[in-house]
Amino acid sequence: MCYKIIQYAEYSCSHQTVTRQQVIDCRKRDCRFSPSHQTGIHSCGSTCAQTMFPDQGLIMEQFNTACPRCGGVTNGH
Ligand SMILES: [Zn+2]
Ligand SMILES: [Zn+2]
Ligand SMILES: [Zn+2]
Repeated sequence: MCYKIIQYAEYSCSHQTVTRQQVIDCRKRDCRFSPSHQTGIHSCGSTCAQTMFPDQGLIMEQFNTACPRCGGVTNGH
């Protein structure tokens, strides 16, 4: 089954922001989400995977400032 990798950046306030999303293709013919999914007539609902794996979160970056909502960026106030 295919799944999605979601890359996050984490701020010092422990809030996270999504920086990138990527779908990983399992390359199976019996997965309806894969580009390799069979195109011929078949009973897709009973023979093919109809769901994706849960999203996989990855923290790729860590900032040592708080996020903008928590005041990490001076907004002139
Ligand atoms: Zn798949
Ligand atoms: Zn199918
Ligand atoms: Zn925050």
